[in-house]
Formats: sequence, C-alpha cells, structure tokens
Amino acid sequence: MMNDQTNNLGATTNNAIIPVAPKGFRSGFVGILGRPNVGKSTLMNQLVGQKIAITSPVAQTTRNRLRGILTTDKAQLIFIDTPGIHKPHHELGKVLVKNALNAIELTDVVLLVVDSSTKAGGGDRYIVELLKRSQTPVILGLNKSDLQPGDYQHLDRTYSQIAAANNWSMVKFSALSKVGLETLLELLIKHLEPGPYYYPPDLVTDRPERFIMGELIREQILLLTRQEIPHSVAIMIEKVEETAKLTRVFAAINVERNSQKAILIGKQGNMLREIGTRARQQIQKLIAGEVYLQLFVRVQPKWRQSRIRLAQLGYSLET
Ligand code: GDP
Ligand code: MG
Repeated sequence: MMNDQTNNLGATTNNAIIPVAPKGFRSGFVGILGRPNVGKSTLMNQLVGQKIAITSPVAQTTRNRLRGILTTDKAQLIFIDTPGIHKPHHELGKVLVKNALNAIELTDVVLLVVDSSTKAGGGDRYIVELLKRSQTPVILGLNKSDLQPGDYQHLDRTYSQIAAANNWSMVKFSALSKVGLETLLELLIKHLEPGPYYYPPDLVTDRPERFIMGELIREQILLLTRQEIPHSVAIMIEKVEETAKLTRVFAAINVERNSQKAILIGKQGNMLREIGTRARQQIQKLIAGEVYLQLFVRVQPKWRQSRIRLAQLGYSLET
C-alpha cells in the first residue's frame, strides 16, 4: 500500500485536488519530437524539475509515451515525450513511430528538438516532412547549444532555413545546462490557449510510480550492457511492499534469449548486482526513502514480435 504522504512525483493517494484556474491561465499539450538522442527526455526532465524520463547515449532509450507536467503561476504545460522517430525495422519499431505520429495530432504545439551541434540531416528532414502535413503549430528547438563550436552560424543556418520555409519559431537552448530554457518556456506558453488545470498543480507525471521504477531499472541495463541487450528487455515490477522504514521492490527483467540472460547476470552475478545497486539508488531518489530492490531475470522468447505480449508487459499500444 502506498502511504498518503506526498512523494517526489507529487502524487498522493488521497483525492487530488484540482483548483480552479485563475483568470488568464493557459494550459495545453506540448509534443516533444525529434530524432533519437537529440535530448528530448533530458529536456522534459529539466522542465518539470524531476527525473521521470530515462535518458542515455543509447538511441531508443524512450520506449513509451510519457507525460511530464509543469505548472507555473501562469500556465500548465503537459509535455509528451515521444520515442525518437526513425524508420521502423520490426513490430515494436512500428508501434513507436505510430505513437509518435498520434502525438502530433493530439497536441496544441509541437516542439521539434534538434541537435544544434551538428547540421540538419536526413533524420531531421524526415520529421519535418511529417510535420508539414499536420495543422499543429511547430517550434523548432535547437538543443545542445553548449556543444556548438565557435563558428556555429553555418550550423544554425541549416535550421533557420527550415524554420523560415515553414513559418516556425526557432529557439536555442541547452537542456543539460538549462541555458535558454526560460525563453523556451515563454515561447511555449504563448502558443497555448486559455485553459484549466488538467492535473493537480504538484503532479509532475501521469505515470504511476511503478512504471518509473521499471524505467529506472531499464536505464541501468542500457547504460551497463550497451548494445548487447537494449531492445529486447522489458521490466515488470511484480511487487512493492512498503513499511515505515523501507520499500521493498521485486522486479523481473524479461529477455528473449538465454544468452541475454547470461549477459545480464554476468560472472558470479556481478552484472545483475551492479544494475541492482545503481537502480536502487535511483529509485531511492524517486521515492525519497530507503529501498530494497530484488531483481530476477526471466526468458520470454519473441516478446517483441507479439503485440499481445507487449500489452501484457505493460506497453500501451495506442492506435
Ligand atoms: P532523446 O533520445 O532525444 O530522449 O535523448 P536523451 O535525452 O536520452 O539524451 C541523449 C544524450 O544527449 C544523453 O547522453 C544526454 O545527456 C545528452 N544531452 C541532452 N541534452 C543535452 C545538452 O543540452 N547538451 C549536451 N552536451 N548533452 C545533452
Ligand atoms: Mg528519450
């Protein structure tokens, strides 16, 4: 059972109170789009002020659609972090692209994030073409400004051409150092209509805590095993036991093959222990309390191909 204290996600088990929005209050949904690894999840975490989306240098870290909520005096912005858009290779890939496309139509404004330390490439243009077909206003966000070289003008030009051709606003920032995020926020709020609070003001994500726990475990697997495992792992939080002093979390790591299970467990269980130690530290931050984490690895052949299994494992297949 969850206790009724407010945890770090701002969620409470008591009836959440949604106040009436003051006059002139704006609200709406912001779709964060962009090719993999440009910093979409990092940006959302920084904007809402809490790590809710996992990030890593490994492409395709973000698998599910996740909402991040930011409430200020003037506005409530609901960010929808999407998996990076890329050409689909298998069933899961198709789901990812489809979800990203659906996100475009359901939002009030799209923030197209690019990596401004490199010039606009085919991956960006593919998304630009998709966005051209939509009615939703677009802001072109040039991220990673901290990585730009001294002679960045030629890089920026490749993006300002795209923005000008489509009548999109353009803004530059660094999600990592937070430089420029205030300006970005003001621009986003300008694009929203007057509206209500959709969520209680202190909530930072729509996902249950268990989901974020699973993601924090998956993040450590991505970081520690790099290319060997990533796409075939799914975490299931089987049980959470809360006592006054300690939260016990029991999680299964589902993989497709015995060889992957062997990698995850490692020599004398070293890998799994390391994943567990690091994930536990992350989960402790999330819930702001002591955590005992027990992980076990299970082989579930071909889960990726099976949409039913995907659904059973908790991946929403929005159609
Ligand atoms: P996503 O795939 O678009 O969600 O990208 P992530 O948020 O997972 O970030 C991918 C990598 O880029 C991570 O290693 C981040 O730390 C890094 N990153 C994100 N934003 C910035 C930034 O503004 N500056 C720098 N230097 N790195 C960034
Ligand atoms: Mg991401």
